[in-house]
Amino acid sequence: MKCPVCGKEMEKGGAGYTFGTKSTGGFFWAPEKFWEKSIMATKGAVKKAGGKFFSLGWSVFDNETWDAWCCRDCEMVLIDTKNKR
Ligand SMILES: [Zn+2]
Repeated sequence: MKCPVCGKEMEKGGAGYTFGTKSTGGFFWAPEKFWEKSIMATKGAVKKAGGKFFSLGWSVFDNETWDAWCCRDCEMVLIDTKNKR
């Protein structure tokens, strides 16, 4: 999947919300290596795996995650909302 902004190849992973409060929760994208271990999505675990956080609130109530691609340079994320993980 090419980034629509810069044209570089985007990195496949998944997106969702971390477990947490307003200070520890948030919408994030993380590379596949993060999901292979299927550890709990906490802010620390996402950062350790090289994931990225985005300003899209912190709600985690439904705990849904989706296939998603990320361009780290442009902070562009494409989410396949029909493909829940
Ligand atoms: Zn880009």
